[in-house]
Amino acid sequence: MDKWEVARTLEEIARYVELSEPNRFKALAFEKAARAIAALDRDPADLIASGDLQKMPGIGKTTASVVEEVVRTGRSRYLEELRKQYPPGIFDLLRVPRLGLKKIGLLHDKLGISSLDELEAACRAGRLTTLRGFGEKTQQKILEGIAYARKRESHFLLPVGIEVGEAIREQLAQIDAIESAEISGSVRRRLEVIRNVNIAVATRDPQRVFKALSKLVADLETIDPNTFKGIARNEIEVYFHMAKPQEFGSTLLRTTGSEEFVHALRERVGDEPAETEEDIFERAGVPYVPPERRENADDLRRKRRRALVKLEDLRGTFHVHTTFSDGRNTVLEMLSAARGRGFQYVGLSDHSKSAFYAGGLSEEGLRQQQAEIARHEHEVMPMRVFRGTEADILADGRIDYGAETLASFDFVIASIHSRFGMSKEEMTERILRALDNPFVTFLGHLTGRLLLSRDGYTIEFDRVFEKAAGRGVMIEINGNPRRLDIDWRLVGRALDRGVRFSIHPDAHSIHEYNALITGTWAARKAGLSPREIFNTKPVDEVATYLEERKTASSKRLKVFD
Ligand SMILES: [Zn+2]
Ligand SMILES: [Zn+2]
Repeated sequence: MDKWEVARTLEEIARYVELSEPNRFKALAFEKAARAIAALDRDPADLIASGDLQKMPGIGKTTASVVEEVVRTGRSRYLEELRKQYPPGIFDLLRVPRLGLKKIGLLHDKLGISSLDELEAACRAGRLTTLRGFGEKTQQKILEGIAYARKRESHFLLPVGIEVGEAIREQLAQIDAIESAEISGSVRRRLEVIRNVNIAVATRDPQRVFKALSKLVADLETIDPNTFKGIARNEIEVYFHMAKPQEFGSTLLRTTGSEEFVHALRERVGDEPAETEEDIFERAGVPYVPPERRENADDLRRKRRRALVKLEDLRGTFHVHTTFSDGRNTVLEMLSAARGRGFQYVGLSDHSKSAFYAGGLSEEGLRQQQAEIARHEHEVMPMRVFRGTEADILADGRIDYGAETLASFDFVIASIHSRFGMSKEEMTERILRALDNPFVTFLGHLTGRLLLSRDGYTIEFDRVFEKAAGRGVMIEINGNPRRLDIDWRLVGRALDRGVRFSIHPDAHSIHEYNALITGTWAARKAGLSPREIFNTKPVDEVATYLEERKTASSKRLKVFD
């Protein structure tokens, strides 16, 4: 029973309590306890043994008894009770934008609603308006929200596709009748949102493969003699494309897509079968196009092929949170994990004071955070630690700290975390004004989108790109798989205007450094090479750039020449 499992149990209890209790304090107590446990640097069992558990900040009497029970027995009877009170699908309703747990609890208790279908029927019958706090307008908004949630049904974030695909591919390697197998489709093209998983299989005996697959996935069916379809993990469709080994390259290419790209290639070379993809490109007389870059016909015509950035090219990163704001790991843990990844440098950036919901730092909090960094940075030598902030861009475009505080940082990420509903014009002006602040180094998650749950705000991208380039502000490629913001489709336009980029994990825990993997995929998909990405630079260049930028902040500096 590690601390994460205990924290997860507490978090789940908090969610149920929020559904059932009108008073928010009880749920907050469990949330707080979950965070406290997650931030522990020792085993919860040791804390119990030493009697220190109840003395911990964030832990009260009730939460301590839950922690003790979970550590001792591996379960929580309180949680099991709560689970019995609600149907399992109730949290599905969270997919409706702006529908929070409090409202969901009310809908369940007063109207017996526990699924999207029931909610939709109740809206159509006008039953929501009988509840306090639900007007005609809210009901209409919820109906729109249901449509939004439905549209996103059976869409998945890329890492889900990778996980499912890799797990299946490993199992396929054990099957005798299969000579080789590769993930294809949109997962191989690294699209940020996918609908299904495709796997190309080289075999001389499709029927034997079919039999073996029936043990790996549910509901296996034959689409045509060479295509089978099944369901993995109860939710995601997997297509298996059979090919004779000497035709494997053709099948891999065709099922990787995109359709437009494959069509354009076929026009040059016909569809004579090939054993490898490389053979096909060679016959077509064009250089090999990596799968990430196969979206449209232009991707084939591009004459000059650039070396795409790789994960190993990143020598450090920025945008890392710690327990000083809403991160789950301490300064030292985040630094050690960065060092463990072999980075030459890492830039810590907790939230700024307006971000009270994320534990943003006051000037006093900042001093403590910087003292903590100073205490620990020698332990991760020779890695260099840069001090920064993810500062809120306020509604009027000002940055959340004054000039004196901003000047104390090595770098500043400016991000929007509030007032998403502003008009396109207002939002554009807000960002343009922020970019005029000489202390801003990076523009954080450009549109604030959360894939599959929230569209980003709209802005006039070209004006923002122009200004960012002019002010030498780099645009972040936020690698969090829910964000992947800036969208890779916009990168070319920004690049043409002279914008440069930096790949950031927006890590809130040591595991989330993995977002650099997804971030790098997005950068590759956008066609970026290491030259255009700040954190591929070695530490000396980065340090000099940040230093010079602080002194001569409006000048474009030579790091990108
Ligand atoms: Zn942020
Ligand atoms: Zn962040």
